[in-house]
Amino acid sequence: MKLVCKSCGAHYAANEVRWRCDCGGLLDLDFVPKFDLGTISSRQPTMWRYREAIPIENDGNIVSFNEGFTPLVDMEIDGIPVKVKNDHLFPSGSYKDRGASVLISKAKELGIRHVVEDSSGNAGAAISTYCAKARIKCDIYVPDSASTAKLVQIEMMGARLFKISGSREDTAHAVLAAAENIYYASHSWNPFFFHGTKTVAYEMCEQLGWRAPDVIFTPVGNGTLLLGAAIGFAELFQIGIIEKTPRLVAVQAANCAPCAEAFFNGDLVPLHIEKKPTLAEGIAVAQPVRGAQIIQAVRDSHGDFVTVTEDDMAGWLRRLYHQGYYIEPTSAAVFAGLATYSSKLDKNQTIVTIITGHGLKAHKKV
Ligand SMILES: *Cc1c(COP(=O)(O)O)cnc(C)c1O
Ligand SMILES: [Zn+2]
Repeated sequence: MKLVCKSCGAHYAANEVRWRCDCGGLLDLDFVPKFDLGTISSRQPTMWRYREAIPIENDGNIVSFNEGFTPLVDMEIDGIPVKVKNDHLFPSGSYKDRGASVLISKAKELGIRHVVEDSSGNAGAAISTYCAKARIKCDIYVPDSASTAKLVQIEMMGARLFKISGSREDTAHAVLAAAENIYYASHSWNPFFFHGTKTVAYEMCEQLGWRAPDVIFTPVGNGTLLLGAAIGFAELFQIGIIEKTPRLVAVQAANCAPCAEAFFNGDLVPLHIEKKPTLAEGIAVAQPVRGAQIIQAVRDSHGDFVTVTEDDMAGWLRRLYHQGYYIEPTSAAVFAGLATYSSKLDKNQTIVTIITGHGLKAHKKV
């Protein structure tokens, strides 16, 4: 197992304390899980049932609330049957706990006592929650526009909160200075986070009887869910557990769609865009550091992008509320995306999507 730089090809030991390459490039983890399905079925229904697929060496370092294995629920979106992963039902209220559980377990394994992270809210909430459990000191940088409930949550987990005025990108810049001296538990840079979010793919396949969906719809900002899912499906395919990997359809808010616009142009790197305000604050990322990887993953899957309007998102948020799903406004984006894309979908295929965040910490009257 090693850390590999996709820009220059350098590699580093997986137990080296670092979050990017000396050349400044992004690091990925070179890791092939080995396991047998027989042992998994008798384990507790948590994401850690895929223990051999999670790159933590020593069980004693696992930081977990027995999270995961969330329900996969049947819904109908504009007449299309869809299976929906209920990932708002995590300890901190978003799927980001998948990544935080693995990343903070790795931090513990590395003997780290202090981490820093930047976030529009949910990643900070997740990292601070797992740091509280692991008794690791935690500093979280957030834009001062983040929802109050998320800010309170982060502070009540015992983290130090640094509110940065300006955009989400200003927050990302501010944290880099802190990350010179403190371990950067970044959900966008740190590859261990993605080896947590990948468990969503394992769970989807197991809940479908160890079959891959045909198509999955995921929201995309920094791509922690989309890229994690792509890793998970690729691993299951490589091990020989599934026979094909699904098409990835990535959903962005039209008001902040740097990857979608690039994809529609045939470009391989995200476009420089002027971000406009959006209901989907959780995916309002104008400069995703892994943007080129996101576009590549969608292309490799023969997938697609879809952008959604503010009105469509508000409409789907209202519809979901009325069906008893108290979700974050950001989480309405994939439903609007499915509806927008519905004429290109085959009803007989297995279509899966995901609710990413809980309404109790970010809501909107619609
Ligand atoms: C983080 C997040 C997403 C998707 O995030 P990426 O930035 O692509 O990792 C979607 N919904 C919610 C509620 C989130 O917090
Ligand atoms: Zn490099």
